[in-house]
Amino acid sequence: MMPTELERNISEVDRRIRAAEQASGRAAGAVSLLAVSKTKTSELVRQAHGFGLSAFGENYAQEMAEKAAVLADLPLSWHFIGPIQSNKTALIAEVSDWVHSIDRLKVARRLNEQRPGDKAPLNVLVQINTSNEDSKSGVRPDAAPELMAAINELPGLRLRGLMTIPAATTNQTAQREPFRQLSELMASLSDSLPQLDTLSMGMSGDLEAAVSEGANIVRVGTDIFGARYN
Ligand SMILES: *Cc1c(COP(=O)(O)O)cnc(C)c1O
Repeated sequence: MMPTELERNISEVDRRIRAAEQASGRAAGAVSLLAVSKTKTSELVRQAHGFGLSAFGENYAQEMAEKAAVLADLPLSWHFIGPIQSNKTALIAEVSDWVHSIDRLKVARRLNEQRPGDKAPLNVLVQINTSNEDSKSGVRPDAAPELMAAINELPGLRLRGLMTIPAATTNQTAQREPFRQLSELMASLSDSLPQLDTLSMGMSGDLEAAVSEGANIVRVGTDIFGARYN
């Protein structure tokens, strides 16, 4: 990918986010952009940082750790957004600033134990399986309160909110439904967990729907870095 194309993609995604904020009466800057850099090179991440991005999302622990090491000279934050294998939690706890994909207490406990003491508590989101019957990832909404109450007791973690990956659809009305469900779940959890402030929802194909339903972080890969081939 040419740097000029990358720069153009980033400004187009920014423009879409700002337009969606405005269309739904959200404050300007209420939504932040997480650039999903999985399978893309460290060099491309470096260029994206040059065009104003500083938060990057990765799905594979080893790949994230390698990029973080190569790019240690830059002030980046790393968000782990992929399925979490128990044998990868140490690497994730050491490298990440955020984890979006917690779906069981065992993994949360391991991340808590393995978070280095000299680092700030790890920001975590619980992944919810909203309307996506095909997906095996994420906890059912009715199981969220108990899991979140337990995570909230872990001092190495800072519980911030919820994440979801709905089934892909191009129908705008259908896109909004799982995002509304996530927003409502967060509102109901906020009575007992008032610190919750982050909804991670919306990707390249549905970020407008997510912003209109209250997203705080949108996770965009393809529309920034181009298609993934591996
Ligand atoms: C790959 C991925 C994304 C980015 O999806 P695009 O459609 O390429 O924007 C967002 N979130 C998660 C969890 C992903 O795995």
